[in-house]
Amino acid sequence: MTLLMSPTEQLTTLGADLRRALDGEFAEVRANARAAFPSQHLHRDPTQDLATARSWVLNRLAELAEAGVLASGVPTNATDPGDPQAAVIAFEMLAHGDLSATIKSGVQLGLFGGAVVNLGTAWHHDTYLADITSLKLLGCYAMTEIGHGSDVFGLETTITYVPETDEFEVHSQTEDATKAYIGNAASHGTMAVVFGQLQVRGRSYGVHAILVPLRDPHGLDLPGIITGDHGGKGGLLGVDNGTIRFERVRVPRRMLLDRYGGVDERGRYSSPIDNPNRRFFTMLATLVRGRICVGAGAGIAARRGLSIATRYALQRRLFPASGHPDGVLLADYLIHQRRLLPLIARSYALGFAQNEVTATLVRVQSGEPVSDEEQRQLETRAAGLKAITTRFANDALQECREACGGAGYLAENQLVGLRADVDIFATFEGDNTVLLQQVAKALLADYAKIWGELDTIGMVQAAARVFGDTVLERTSASVAVERLIATASRQPERATLDDRGWQAWMFTERERHSMESLARRARKAGKGFDALNQLGDHLLFVAKAHLERITLEAFIAGIDACPDAEAKQELERLCSLFALSSISADRAWFGEHGKLSAPRSKAIGAQLNALCARLRPDSLALVEGLGIPAPWLGAAFLDD
Ligand SMILES: Cc1cc2nc3c(=O)[nH]c(=O)nc-3n(C[C@H](O)[C@H](O)[C@H](O)COP(=O)(O)OP(=O)(O)OC[C@H]3O[C@@H](n4cnc5c(N)ncnc54)[C@H](O)[C@@H]3O)c2cc1C
Repeated sequence: MTLLMSPTEQLTTLGADLRRALDGEFAEVRANARAAFPSQHLHRDPTQDLATARSWVLNRLAELAEAGVLASGVPTNATDPGDPQAAVIAFEMLAHGDLSATIKSGVQLGLFGGAVVNLGTAWHHDTYLADITSLKLLGCYAMTEIGHGSDVFGLETTITYVPETDEFEVHSQTEDATKAYIGNAASHGTMAVVFGQLQVRGRSYGVHAILVPLRDPHGLDLPGIITGDHGGKGGLLGVDNGTIRFERVRVPRRMLLDRYGGVDERGRYSSPIDNPNRRFFTMLATLVRGRICVGAGAGIAARRGLSIATRYALQRRLFPASGHPDGVLLADYLIHQRRLLPLIARSYALGFAQNEVTATLVRVQSGEPVSDEEQRQLETRAAGLKAITTRFANDALQECREACGGAGYLAENQLVGLRADVDIFATFEGDNTVLLQQVAKALLADYAKIWGELDTIGMVQAAARVFGDTVLERTSASVAVERLIATASRQPERATLDDRGWQAWMFTERERHSMESLARRARKAGKGFDALNQLGDHLLFVAKAHLERITLEAFIAGIDACPDAEAKQELERLCSLFALSSISADRAWFGEHGKLSAPRSKAIGAQLNALCARLRPDSLALVEGLGIPAPWLGAAFLDD
């Protein structure tokens, strides 16, 4: 394996080994990407005003395009299949710098370009892809409307076929139909992929997408287009988000992105998918990469924050004490270790889970035939991982800011900018609460299917045993995890707290028990809005329990794959820190359900302290392992 190392970076041996382990099967490609990344304009001046920030970001995108980084993996014509792995890694690299640039590139290439690639056909690819990847044609992904964010199925924009002129008319029927929050809409976008209800000869065919030009070469709205500017936002200052309205705008028929449904020259609609709901969800599923990228980007943002806060804790001294005349290093306060080290451990855990979902994406989008099952599992995991990683990034960055005191509040030290920019990651590409509900509903549907099948063949009583093998779809660590759990589950209260089998058993029990009781309650509640609405908190608990389990299993697989003994041992400690922190956070639930005695619950606190104390001397190596090169952190208060 050839590992190119950034010339400006010196790593400890343990740090380098941990980094290689966490980069996993993408170690070589990530190391090369780091070495090749144009890092001279990573950070934006935080004092920039709105207009300057927007033009800075546009220039940065041009610079990245010039360096060949921006459109890495994105297809440029109809015959180019693209490279999902390269696209995700490129997005991760972008997240090492200004997040407005990262998100604007996501809008341009992942959303606008991605819609043209995945929803369009050869003419759209040949006509537009080269200009999209070179940034000659800047575009928007106009799905959300004022009245319809999470519930995009009910969009009100209409796309009506006009047989007399062989065109489509795009129209915002109501105020609520105004497209809102759209990236690139306020000033730079000259075309949009617009989602709306397709109407052909008085019949509605559900949501479709169409390309609509927005602005002339002078940047002025074209006739019938009314754009608006959202102006200042809570973060991502350099992205020009805005509104778009359409007043009976006409475009030629071929502008409809017609891979999943189109209208021929005689005005007849046809689609390879009959059911409109299934058609729409198939269209959305092709865009799964965006969700994976947002999760990956949030993970990198959290790693940047943790790297900054940890390095600061290793240089900041406070309160002289015996044996510490110059003050105690912040990193030596146990309470400080308890604030940062579990977050570092979770960062590793989520990194391993992210590797798995990226690998699945690459397999599913490789062009090889994939089962519906695999496709569905990818969508569920991408949605779930996006939700928990963006939640984590928000929490971690707030903790990092506070862990650096007043210095953490200065923009020049990066943390407040990161925190502000990452905030909205919890909402776009699918609101987290809504995504977690989707995850739980998908699990519930699997459970009901398996239960139904068992019932049919008279084996309901065997369901509990089968549950472990079927509903709990195992990750790549499956066999090893099964073995560990089997041993520990015989006498769980006698296992030591760092017994991986016991930890995995606790994670599995949390998911199994909560899933079974949810299924029971759902069956009893029956159908309809009120029935499921009452189960909302239970749905979220199940989704989180599921995601925690697959994250732990990904961590275990990552440890198994680590070739270096010292790094492996360190990962074992981090994994215990992650697992015990997760169990501790739900200790009330475990206690209520007879899975954790009071003395054992108390002992977890002591074990967390012991793990933190053991990991403390390796703090620097731990953050080196997170993979953010120190010279890229850009925090003014860090020593060189
Ligand atoms: C900076 C930014 C950039 C964006 N870029 C784009 C873009 O380029 N293109 C685009 O099309 N869109 C874009 N969006 C829109 C984004 O995808 C939506 O904001 C998001 O889908 C949520 O929709 P909403 O804002 O209408 O919130 P809502 O759907 O109204 O949600 C509001 C609250 O209600 C809760 N909620 C919703 N449904 C349920 C439910 N069933 N059960 C329980 N709780 C529920 C949610 O958890 C949330 O807390 C962007 C948004 C922002 C802020």
